[in-house]
Amino acid sequence: MNAPLVSLDKLSVHYPLGRKLLGPSPVLKAIDEVSLDIPKGSFFGLVGESGSGKTTLGRAILRAAPISGGHATYRDGEVDYDLATLPKDKLRDFRKRAQLIFQDPYAALSPRMTVRDIIAEPLEVMGITRTRQETDKRVREIAAKCRLNLEHLRRFPHAFSGGQRQRISIARALVCGPKFIVADESVAALDVSIQADILNLLKSLQHDLDLTFLFISHDLSVVAHVCDYVAVMYLGSIVEVSPTRELFRQPKHPYTRALLSAIPSLDPDDTGKAQRLPGEMPSPANPPSGCRFHTRCPVAQDRCRQDVPHLQDATGDARVSCHFWRENLPA
Ligand code: SF4
Repeated sequence: MNAPLVSLDKLSVHYPLGRKLLGPSPVLKAIDEVSLDIPKGSFFGLVGESGSGKTTLGRAILRAAPISGGHATYRDGEVDYDLATLPKDKLRDFRKRAQLIFQDPYAALSPRMTVRDIIAEPLEVMGITRTRQETDKRVREIAAKCRLNLEHLRRFPHAFSGGQRQRISIARALVCGPKFIVADESVAALDVSIQADILNLLKSLQHDLDLTFLFISHDLSVVAHVCDYVAVMYLGSIVEVSPTRELFRQPKHPYTRALLSAIPSLDPDDTGKAQRLPGEMPSPANPPSGCRFHTRCPVAQDRCRQDVPHLQDATGDARVSCHFWRENLPA
């Protein structure tokens, strides 16, 4: 495993929910004490149900969501930033190094700007280029890398399909030369054939430009295809983190097993063995005591209702947050 580009140490994002006259004020624990290393040069998947905190975690790393506790560190060569306390001038530099690719290529692009202006905007806002010629040269370079036709730079976004729009979004995210990209459900809004095209583009850009990706997705089959590592989130916590092959070969957390069992099969004879979890995910404003998954876990025991499990080393570079992962491994 390469050295981490981004390290999280007990990172929390809590939102206050008004005030109480008596007792402590309620808080919504969107992210609660997450510790994680994202190795340099990796395609790192982050999966979980809607509401598990995936997007908030990605945004907290980019400093687009408020960090309320713990540390997030970005280390690249000489640069060593504590993201929770980054002063304004360093934050500006960090924004050149870390960018976001949005989910919806239809909503992410201004309909009033040409493709050239959309891609050029971050260069001008960050003061990276000084002349129009410099800006145009950089825009053409990155557009070609993202396999955009240079003649299209003069057109407006409405003239393009979803896949082409996502290439424009990717070009805009990469134009300042970042090293870390958060791709938040970046292929979820696209047709399956276009998804494969965009995923292949992201993988080739990763190698060409030496990028590190945090790839947020609810689609485990996509994650299996592109990611080197996967972290599984439930109710604001990481419950398992593992090399992708190991996670799919032998999932160790009951929640990971339930997620994997729900992947649709292409085999018409497969009658389906999806494991249905009882109930809904609890509210992060009032998470269960002990293990947060105990209200839905099919193998919960008394200890699970009191003791909080922490990520512990399991087999084959995997880490899991469960008191009884060893006992509950399928034979
Ligand atoms: Fe289930 Fe208990 Fe493990 Fe939590 S700690 S996942 S409730 S067995």
